[in-house]
Amino acid sequence: MNIYVLLKRTFDTEERITISGGQIDQDGAEFIINPYDEYAVEEAIRIRDKHGGEVTVLSVGEEDTEKQLRTALAMGADKAALINIEDDVEETDEFSIAMIIGEFLKDKEADLILAGNVAVDGGSGQIGPRIADILGIPHVTTITKIEISGEQVTVTRDVEGDSEVIESTLPLLVTTQQGLNDPRYPSLPGIMKAKKKPLEELELDDLDLDEDDVEPKTKTIEVFLPLEKSAGRILEGELQEQVKELANLLSKQL
Ligand SMILES: Cc1cc2nc3c(=O)[nH]c(=O)nc-3n(C[C@H](O)[C@H](O)[C@H](O)COP(=O)(O)OP(=O)(O)OC[C@H]3O[C@@H](n4cnc5c(N)ncnc54)[C@H](O)[C@@H]3O)c2cc1C
Repeated sequence: MNIYVLLKRTFDTEERITISGGQIDQDGAEFIINPYDEYAVEEAIRIRDKHGGEVTVLSVGEEDTEKQLRTALAMGADKAALINIEDDVEETDEFSIAMIIGEFLKDKEADLILAGNVAVDGGSGQIGPRIADILGIPHVTTITKIEISGEQVTVTRDVEGDSEVIESTLPLLVTTQQGLNDPRYPSLPGIMKAKKKPLEELELDDLDLDEDDVEPKTKTIEVFLPLEKSAGRILEGELQEQVKELANLLSKQL
C-alpha cells in the first residue's frame, strides 16, 4: 500500500509564545511535529506493518523541517519529502499549501493519505479536505479508527464526543484525531536508522509551480495573544457570609 502522511512542523503551544511585529516570534519558540500528525504517522506505520507497502512523510516547510521529518523516519516511516518554500514564497495560506501538496501528490498514486485533523498553530483544519478535493478522492475527517480490507475502508469518526461509522474505498484521505492510537517514541535504533533513510528535498520549481500559482487567497490582518485574565478572588468566612457576598458581587455586575 502506498501511504502518505502530511506532517506540519509547528511551534509548541505548551511553551510560552511571544509576538513581535504582528508575527509569532520564532526565535524563542520550540518546534515539534504537529501533535495530530503524530497520530497520522503512527497509524500509517501500523497499516503498513499489517498490509505491506511504504510510508512517505511529506512536509511543506523550511530547511529546519528536516528535524521533524527525521523524527517521523525514526518512528518507522520509510521515506520523507520536504518541499522547501523558504526562498520561493513570501506569504502562504491554506490555498497555497494545499496547491503545493496537491501538485506533489497528483502523480504519486497514493492509496491512503493521512493528515492531522488540525494544526495546533494555524488551526484551520482545511489542508486535508482541500487536498482530497484537488486529487478528486474521498475524505473522512477526525477519525478515531480505521480498518482496511482490500479496497474497502471502514472508518469511525469523532463527532463531538459521539461516533459515526463510515464506509469508503481506496484511494482515500483521512484526518486523524486524538484516540486513534498512542504514538510511539522513536527508539535509539530507529534514530540511527533514520539518518540513512531517503529524504528528498524539492523546491517550487521542481513541481512546475511558480509563486503566482500559489499566491494566497486570504490575508492575515492581525495576530494577537488572548487578553490576560485578572486573578480570581477567593471568598472567605462562613458559608452563609460567602453566599451573601457572592450574591452582592453578582448583583453589581448586572
Ligand atoms: C514555510 C511556511 C511559511 C508560511 N508563511 C505564512 C505567511 O507568510 N503568512 C501566513 O499567514 N501563514 C503562513 N504560513 C502558515 C500557512 O499558511 C498555514 O500553516 C497553512 O495554510 C495551513 O493551515 P493550518 O496551519 O491552519 O493547517 P490545518 O489545515 O489546520 O492542518 C491540518 C493538517 O494538514 C497538514 N498540513 C498543514 N500544513 C502542512 C504543511 N505545511 N506541510 C504538510 N502538511 C501540512 C497536517 O497534516 C495538519 O495536521 C506558513 C507556513 C509554512 C509551512
